[in-house]
Amino acid sequence: MRDFTYETPAVRIVFGTGCAERALAEEIGRLGARRLLIVTTPRTAPLAATLAKPLPIVATFDGVRPHVPVDTVDRAVALATRAGADALLSVGGGSTTGTAKAIALRMSLPIVAVPTTYAGSEVTPVWGTTEGARKTTGRSPAVVPKTVLYDPALTMTLPAAMTAASAMNAMAHCVEAFYAPGANPITDLVATEGVRVIAGALPAAVADPAGVAGRSGLLYGAYLAGSAFAGAGSGLHHKICHVLGGAFDLPHAETHTVLLPHVAAFNESAVPALRTRVAPALGADDVAGGLNRLAARIGAPMSLAQIGLAEDDLDVAVRLVLEKDLSDNPRHVGEPEIRGILRDALYGGFPAATRGGSG
Ligand code: NAD
Repeated sequence: MRDFTYETPAVRIVFGTGCAERALAEEIGRLGARRLLIVTTPRTAPLAATLAKPLPIVATFDGVRPHVPVDTVDRAVALATRAGADALLSVGGGSTTGTAKAIALRMSLPIVAVPTTYAGSEVTPVWGTTEGARKTTGRSPAVVPKTVLYDPALTMTLPAAMTAASAMNAMAHCVEAFYAPGANPITDLVATEGVRVIAGALPAAVADPAGVAGRSGLLYGAYLAGSAFAGAGSGLHHKICHVLGGAFDLPHAETHTVLLPHVAAFNESAVPALRTRVAPALGADDVAGGLNRLAARIGAPMSLAQIGLAEDDLDVAVRLVLEKDLSDNPRHVGEPEIRGILRDALYGGFPAATRGGSG
């Protein structure tokens, strides 16, 4: 058994279809919150308003934008201060949770999170804000929501394409948890189950968006994925996605979907668990094949070209990825390796799990 350090964030989880409507008031009461600020997007605002009917709401901030811009946080903090908010109710996807976290970081307010996608941010201590093209990230227990209500019914309005991309984003948290810097036997266990649950539920949720079984499985998988990510941290895959999203404005979840089989194939020779645990959980012999078949089955994008990267962007992308500290990847990565991964992903070539040795 390898030595490890594992810190579990203190977060109360309530899971079940209809739980947001049924249990939200009680959960808010448990925290003793009396003046809630709702954080949401225009699209999820009507849902938030419905859930908020029995709650002590003092204001609603529906100006959430992708990547949590600092000026958005400034406006939300000003509103929360003016309204005298004593807690935050976040209703929405990863961008909404991320905005609530950034407010909480500045104002030390507790968060109750009601996630409506599969991003998993609601159980991690990771926060991030952007200023122009500059992204700042950090970890703090202060941003972890006190309570998360996972209600599969609230995810039924997610369109099929977003369902596919968001769930593959969760899948990426699970796969990368096997070799990210904080990987340990507990995150292995959680991530293996996350892969199995997501792979089983995803085709059902895409085929039948209002089906409870598929939606419940995916939301449970999202919780497992967020938990694995919280413990293990991020590695090569997340670092490449971060660069591509920031420099070329590629959509977050879709970038994860396309890139994941390529990075997993690259690392498979150096991380036996990708073959012995992840591949079987996908019902496949090798991890890249399993991920690609799943992506094809749900109609997810298969190439970076499909989501906006051009051949001419390749050199800049390679240079920017190499500016990151990649020394903690289990297999050596230099210029030729990054170029190989990105070129395969650009055109959607089936990644070769056996591309090169184990060094
Ligand atoms: P998102 O939150 O940006 O949401 C995308 C769109 O979907 C928005 O327009 C939103 O209004 C809409 N939407 C959300 N739920 C819906 C629903 N149920 N029905 C219909 N529309 C809905 O996207 P995301 O993929 O959830 O989150 C991505 C962000 O989360 C990225 O910025 C990423 O960096 C961050 N993230 C952070 C962590 C972390 O630990 N800090 C983990 C994962 C992701």
